[in-house]
Amino acid sequence: MNKFEALGLGEAIIKAVNDMGFETPSEVQEKAIPVLLDEDTDIVALAQTGTGKTAAFGFPLIEKVDSTSRITQGLILSPTRELCLQITNELKNYSKFIPQLRTVAIYGGASIHEQSKEIKRGAQIIVATPGRMQDMINRKMVDISNIGYCILDEADEMLNMGFYEDINAILSHTPDDKSTWLFSATMPREVATIAKRFMHNPVEITVGHKNTGSKNVSHEYYVVNSRDRYAALKRLADANPDIFSVIFCRTKRDTQKVAENLIQDGYNAAALHGDLSQNQRDLVMKSFRKRQIQMLVATDVAARGIDVDDITHVINYQLPDEIETYTHRSGRTGRAGKSGVSMVIVSKSELRKIKTVERIIKKSFEKKEIPSGEEICQVQLFHLASDIGKAEINHEIDSYLPSINEVLEDFSKEELIKKFFSVEFSRFHNYYKKAKDLNAVGGDDRRDDSRRNGSTRYFINVGEKDGFDWMTLKDFLKETLDLGRDAVSRVDVKESFSFFNTDVEHQQKILDIFEEYTLDGRNVNVEISKDSGRNRGGRRRKGGANGGGFKGSRRSDGFKPKGRNRNDSQRGSASSNNRRDKRKRSDRR
Ligand code: ADP
Ligand code: MG
Repeated sequence: MNKFEALGLGEAIIKAVNDMGFETPSEVQEKAIPVLLDEDTDIVALAQTGTGKTAAFGFPLIEKVDSTSRITQGLILSPTRELCLQITNELKNYSKFIPQLRTVAIYGGASIHEQSKEIKRGAQIIVATPGRMQDMINRKMVDISNIGYCILDEADEMLNMGFYEDINAILSHTPDDKSTWLFSATMPREVATIAKRFMHNPVEITVGHKNTGSKNVSHEYYVVNSRDRYAALKRLADANPDIFSVIFCRTKRDTQKVAENLIQDGYNAAALHGDLSQNQRDLVMKSFRKRQIQMLVATDVAARGIDVDDITHVINYQLPDEIETYTHRSGRTGRAGKSGVSMVIVSKSELRKIKTVERIIKKSFEKKEIPSGEEICQVQLFHLASDIGKAEINHEIDSYLPSINEVLEDFSKEELIKKFFSVEFSRFHNYYKKAKDLNAVGGDDRRDDSRRNGSTRYFINVGEKDGFDWMTLKDFLKETLDLGRDAVSRVDVKESFSFFNTDVEHQQKILDIFEEYTLDGRNVNVEISKDSGRNRGGRRRKGGANGGGFKGSRRSDGFKPKGRNRNDSQRGSASSNNRRDKRKRSDRR
């Protein structure tokens, strides 16, 4: 008897399990499945992302449902459309040897009438997002008054996303004697409240430590100056040529921007966030699954629960506000028994947060250095050599061989290799050979850089009359100059002009950018303030800090064309006011 049979599962599911190649039940499956098969009980099961919760409720649900009846008997609520589709697909796989069993997904952003038709054709199991479910109940398109099982999957996330009221309302349409199965990665107070309110003496199952990540994931952090965050990201990617990663940003806006920059710099990247249409999101996910995208830049909500195996790296471009979110992020890698790395890029001022995360996930982080240009070149060179070694030969060029041979006949194999690598590799190498060290010095020194390195004070001829206050001017400068969060300091806005400071090293760049700059049709002028008295240095910043990657189309000049910056900010000061407000809450999705 195999280990799944021992849990009490029937023949049809065992056959599907064998087809899927599952050999041993995961811990949550081992604990939950026998209980759920045995009795009709409520259950609260807490287990990390990636531990196989879908099968832990999916297998017993399929066993319990009467496939000869067309009545809807099981309802699974899940937070996002992506998860909803994922669960539906899994359930279809599990039940592929039970032909009459139909599982139907309902979620927002697709035709409600199509979904209603699907349900009319008979759906013993419905997998739904709470919003769409509510909608369909109100329109009498679904009948859940006879369900025996209601599953709340990723309950913590549904509550995070503000679905409490929806869940409440949906459950009020279900019979009192149903069983409720709640699955969650974490147990915040809101989840405990749901458990108390809607469940009767639930069996409780906890797998592993609450809040700890998968044991297959190692955690690393890199300390850089804020302004070097993006350059650091590129180095991390370049140092891992086979990277297949999810990069997490805190806001939709940063997500979009980082993805755009990566694409512009020649990486296979895309953004995933709530401002994209469902269609766009589906396309992105499809390309990601097919590995056409190597770097998926995502918000926490959009990436929640994404079940793509083999993700090699999770990169925290910024740390999340809440530590539980970190657990979800890092759970995207190290799945299905594989190992993975979760990297965090931090500035010195955020170092303390690493300690807090360590304490809560009960794992320690390793402090690593952003690789130098030379290390990256080595890695890429060997990677290229090994790719060449593995490449399949294309015989279409055979007919040109004699003439190619003639051109190259005087060279030895060694010389040919060198020449070949020079052609393929020189640009990349030149780009990185003078790259500066991106690791922030004195990791535990929390003083701000401007004071240590000397800073420059500037005069700028815009002020209150142009609609700026110190915050909007700081935002405007940071965006226009493409500098990090802390790079602009001491912003002092007067009526028709203002002052600000940056590190000396940005001086030349700033003067260049503002040399010919217009805002709402008028010239914006920046000069070094007479009273700064500290304008030493002022050399042009080396391009080397911008990372690049190679492979033909990859660019090695990370600087954005000036024109782009200019267009951006021509939207003017009035809009920059609004932009800040809008960013607050809705920007996390
Ligand atoms: P969770 O919901 O806990 O985040 P999933 O149910 O999405 O995890 O499962 C994660 C991955 O592990 C899926 O690809 C799933 O097919 C696979 N999986 C689940 N159970 C097993 C098992 N017993 N053996 C091997 N792989 C499994
Ligand atoms: Mg899940």
